[in-house]
Amino acid sequence: MKASRLFMPTLRQVPAEAEIASHRLMLRAGLMRKLASGIYSYLPLGLRALKKVENIIREEMDRSGAQELIMSALLPAEAYMESGRWEVFGPEMFRLKDRGGRDFCLGPTHEEVFTTTVRNEIKSYKSLPITLYQIQTKFRDEIRPRFGVMRCREFVMKDAYSFDRDEKGLDQSYQAMRDAYCRIFDRLNLDYTVVQADSGAMGGSGSEEFTVKSEIGESVLAFCEACGYAAYDEKDECKPVPEEDNSPFAPMEKVATPDVKTIEDLVGFFGCTPSRFGKTLLYKADDQTVAVMVRGDRDVNETKLKNYLKCNELALADEETVQKETKAQVGFAGPVGLKTRLIVDLEIPYMKNFITGANDTGYHYKNVNFGRDFETKEIVDLRTITEGDPCPVCGAKISVARGIEVGHIFKLGTKYSEALHCTFLDENGKEKPMIMGCYGIGVGRTMASVIEQNHDEYGIIWPVSIAPYHVVIVTVSMEDEEQKALSEKIYNELTEKGVEVLWDDRSERPGVKFKDADLIGFPVRITVGKKAKEGRVEYKLRKEDGFTELTTEEAIESAIAFVKGE
Ligand code: ATP
Ligand code: MG
Repeated sequence: MKASRLFMPTLRQVPAEAEIASHRLMLRAGLMRKLASGIYSYLPLGLRALKKVENIIREEMDRSGAQELIMSALLPAEAYMESGRWEVFGPEMFRLKDRGGRDFCLGPTHEEVFTTTVRNEIKSYKSLPITLYQIQTKFRDEIRPRFGVMRCREFVMKDAYSFDRDEKGLDQSYQAMRDAYCRIFDRLNLDYTVVQADSGAMGGSGSEEFTVKSEIGESVLAFCEACGYAAYDEKDECKPVPEEDNSPFAPMEKVATPDVKTIEDLVGFFGCTPSRFGKTLLYKADDQTVAVMVRGDRDVNETKLKNYLKCNELALADEETVQKETKAQVGFAGPVGLKTRLIVDLEIPYMKNFITGANDTGYHYKNVNFGRDFETKEIVDLRTITEGDPCPVCGAKISVARGIEVGHIFKLGTKYSEALHCTFLDENGKEKPMIMGCYGIGVGRTMASVIEQNHDEYGIIWPVSIAPYHVVIVTVSMEDEEQKALSEKIYNELTEKGVEVLWDDRSERPGVKFKDADLIGFPVRITVGKKAKEGRVEYKLRKEDGFTELTTEEAIESAIAFVKGE
C-alpha cells in the first residue's frame, strides 16, 4: 500500500475528549473516529488491526474445536422474555419495535439465541458436546461510555457457548476455552492475569476473567507473585492477621473526646496508629439497619457485605438513622451497648484493648475487647484486601493492581437451558437439561488494551501479530529518482515474501513521515535516503532506540526474519 493513496488522517493535536493513552492514540494515529458518544468508526488502519485480532481469536477458537457461525444483531424479544432478561437488562438494552408493533432488541449478548437455536436442532446426547461461537457486533446502552472503544455502546465481541451432557463435560469444554484464551492473549503480547471473578447475579458454578493490568483499569485485583493467586478484591479471602500481643485485658474506660470524630482526629488525640481503633459504620441494607465493624485502618468492602446480607440496595445510613440507633451524633458509634444488628470483620476478635466510639456524643471507650465488652455471632470477612496482606493460598505478600477485563469465561450450568427448555435425551432415553458455559472477548477493548500496554510518548508500538502493516518504508525525497527506485524495489521484494508494507511515498517533509511512522507504530521502519545510490538504507525497530545502516539485501532479510519471528 502506498501512503499517498491511504486514508490515514493522523492528528498532531491531542484530542481533548480522550483521557487515556489508547483512546488518544487511536484517534491521533487515524485508526478510528467518533460518531456519537460511545459510537466509533474504524478507519482503514484501525480496521486492519481489529481484523487481525479477530483472526487470532478465530484461529484459536477453531483450534479448540469450537465452530463459527453468525447470528443477527437484531433479535426478537421472545427468548429474552422467556429467560427473564428482557427486564433484567433494563435501560442498557437497546429496544425497538418493527412496523407490526413487535418488540425487538439489538443484542447485548446472545445466551438466549444460542440456547434456543441448539434447543430446536439438537435432541440427542450423540450430538453433544458442542461449542459454537461468533464474532459479531453487540449493543449496550452503557450509562457512562468512556475511554473510546474500551467502554462503548456498539462493539465487536467474540462470544462462544458450550453445551454438554454433564458437569464433567462442562469442565472439559471450559478448560478448552481457557487454554484458547491464554493462547490468544499470549499471541497479542498482552501481560494478563486470570482472575477468579464474582459469579454475582448470573449464578453458575465458576467464572474467571482475563484481566490486563493497567492503571486505567476499572477493577481492582489482588494477586500473589509467589503462587499465581489472583482475585478481584470483593472475592478475596482476607485472612485475619493476629496481633502478637499477650498483654491482659485492661479495664474499659470512657474518655471525653470532644470534637474528635474522624480516624485522623482520633490518631491525633490518642497518639496511636489507626489500627488501634475499631471503626463502626451503620448501613441501610434494603429496609434493615446494620452496624459493621472493621479495624480503623481497613475499608469495608461493600460488595462482600452486600453478598453476605443478600440485599439489593446497600448504602451508608443517613445522619438521622445513625442518631436514632446510637443515640449520639455521627462519629461516635461503637459496638458496646449497641442494639443494632452487628456484623464484625474477622480481625475484630483478634484485636486487644482497642478504641471505639461510646454511642455518646463527645466520648470514646478505651480498652475495648470483643467477647468481654460486646459480642456477635456474625464474624465475617468484610474488608478490602490491601497491599502486603498475606495471600489466602500461600501466605506470601499480596500485591494490588488495577485491571481491564478483556475476556470472561463462565460456567452457566443449567440457568438458560432450564429457563428455555434446552434439553436432550441421554443414553437411557431420559430428558435432561444441557449444561452450558459462555465465553466472551471484547475485540475492540482487547485491541485498545494492547495499545495501553505497548506505547511510548511518540505513539503506538504494535506487536507484529496485529500491526496494521509490518514495515513502513520512508522515502526521504520522492524527487530523487534513485531513492524512489530503491524504495520500490524493497517494497516489491518484501511484498512478494508476504510482508505487509506501507510505502510512505508522500511528498511530505521527512520529519512528518517519521512522526507518522512512530505515531502509527509500524514494527519496522526502513528509511531510504541519501545513501540510496550506494544501495544502503537505515533499518529501525519501533521498539528500540537508534537505527542501523544496512545494505538493501540485509535490510530486507532482517525485516523478513523479524516479521516471521526468527
Ligand atoms: P464490564 O464489567 O466491563 O461492563 P461485562 O461484564 O459487562 O464487562 P461481558 O458481558 O462479560 O462484559 O462481555 C464480554 C466482554 O465484552 C468483556 O470481557 C469485554 O471485553 C467486552 N465488553 C463488555 N462491555 C463492553 C463495552 N461496553 N465496550 C467494549 N467492550 C465491552
Ligand atoms: Mg458491562
